[in-house]
Amino acid sequence: MKQNKILALKYRPQEFKDLIGQEVISETIINGIKNNKTPNSYLLTGIRGVGKTTIARLIAKALNCEKNLDKKITCENENFCNSCSEIVRSSHIDVLEMDAASKTGIDDVRELIENSKYSPTSAQFKIFIIDEVHMLSKQAFNGLLKTLEEPPSKLKFILATTEVRKIPVTILSRCQRFDLKRVSSDKMQEHIRNISKKENGNFSDEAINLIAKASEGSVRDAISLLDRALIFQTINSNKEIQGDDIRKMLGIADRSEIVKLFKEILLGNEVKALSILEELIENGLDTKNFLNDILEILYLFSRKISLGDINKKDLTVSEAEIELINNSSKNLDIQDIGLFWQLTIKTIDDIRFVSNENLNLKMYILQLMHLKNIETKNFSDIEKIEVSPKLKLNLGDQPKDSDEDSKKETTVKSQLKSTDQIKTNIYKETDNKNFKFQNEIKNFNDIVKFADKEKEVDLKYDLERNVKLVSFSKGKIDISFNEKLNKNFIKNLSEKLLKWTNERWIISLSKKDGTETIYERTIKESKKNLDSEKNSKIAKKIISTFPDAELVKVEDKNE
Ligand SMILES: [Zn+2]
Repeated sequence: MKQNKILALKYRPQEFKDLIGQEVISETIINGIKNNKTPNSYLLTGIRGVGKTTIARLIAKALNCEKNLDKKITCENENFCNSCSEIVRSSHIDVLEMDAASKTGIDDVRELIENSKYSPTSAQFKIFIIDEVHMLSKQAFNGLLKTLEEPPSKLKFILATTEVRKIPVTILSRCQRFDLKRVSSDKMQEHIRNISKKENGNFSDEAINLIAKASEGSVRDAISLLDRALIFQTINSNKEIQGDDIRKMLGIADRSEIVKLFKEILLGNEVKALSILEELIENGLDTKNFLNDILEILYLFSRKISLGDINKKDLTVSEAEIELINNSSKNLDIQDIGLFWQLTIKTIDDIRFVSNENLNLKMYILQLMHLKNIETKNFSDIEKIEVSPKLKLNLGDQPKDSDEDSKKETTVKSQLKSTDQIKTNIYKETDNKNFKFQNEIKNFNDIVKFADKEKEVDLKYDLERNVKLVSFSKGKIDISFNEKLNKNFIKNLSEKLLKWTNERWIISLSKKDGTETIYERTIKESKKNLDSEKNSKIAKKIISTFPDAELVKVEDKNE
């Protein structure tokens, strides 16, 4: 197989009928031209590689086609008229293309406007195609606007952009706008399959499906991926290209491995989950693709929960995924999925800032598991825990004021912990139902106070010395931390917050640097107090009486 041209150029549609996924737009444009109702300016918007420039050229062809004089668009690929073939070769004297990404200034536009004053040389219309028009400077837009306001009758503009919001309203209001859609997965698959056949490709359905999906609705992306896959094929000429090959090419993790990983997360098997993740990382997983795959699984879960069983005919969902979702969705509710979703989105956002993506992923998996572990709704599970009457008594409603009680409680806690750490929390919660009304955590200091009151020594130590607060809102805390932070800190704090407030909190590690730690602030303040007291009259008087004396500490009587 020999390729002289890159595929995207080779298969660039030369006629409206060859366009993929933009049928409505094509029809509107063709009808306009047939009925002689054409705007002075077209505006084509849409994501990259969806056909904006291609359509711009098709419009130019249709407007200037020599066979089009009888209003029938019949000029065909093998038999183009002079005008159409010149446009194909980019050599038409009256069809000018400008890339605003490289020519953004007023001078470039001025040249264009100057040129626009002259009538077309050979064709019916003079046509300016301006690609990435949003890149023009403000001045350049103003220059363009004057021409758009009073356009010569033989002049047509075709503007194309990926970012329509950056175009001034004054310009927008003078254009007929066409929003190009992303190409649907079905159509894209069909398109890729056709091209691959013409190029003697040999692909499994799954491979085609994956290419279509990875293209995210951009025909150009899909074709350039296919191009790469075809090169892969030339190396393995007798083999049918499988989904796995494409995954390797794209750095996409095998979804079935992700499903396996997700299963372990839901079961709370930290060790297994992490070992699967490590294996995936070793096989060259792409962090962003991986997280997006998880988002898709989460979406499937919410679909199952809200809309019922997933149709097995849906080819984009594998058997393994359907099985996972059907078996595990009963233990999840929409709120869980919402929390998972938020955390995943945040992690995707974070990967831009962290230097060690793998560490970030591991942290993410642990946090996911933790969100699941602090399950609160499944109260029926409590009955399954065997608790002796004596233990039950100790877990009762009495306030745990005395040391004796809290000691007992600690024993009970550790015993229950060995049975099931998670459910201990739930148990205590049900017993302390009105607890939450007494406990309101309004700020970061309240958490420290609680840790102190509840004798959570480790937690308090970490909160004061190893954690810097970045932001605090109810149910959500962002922190930064130093390397001394206990590795169970997040888990521990989330569990305690749930216990104290009966609500789930999301604790996330921020890339921003927080304020100082509480400990640092206390030191600073006491030094400040000390310094100001040293200068007080009393201190000075004492020093003058006892020259050897030194003020070392200032205590607030109220504390
Ligand atoms: Zn023609």
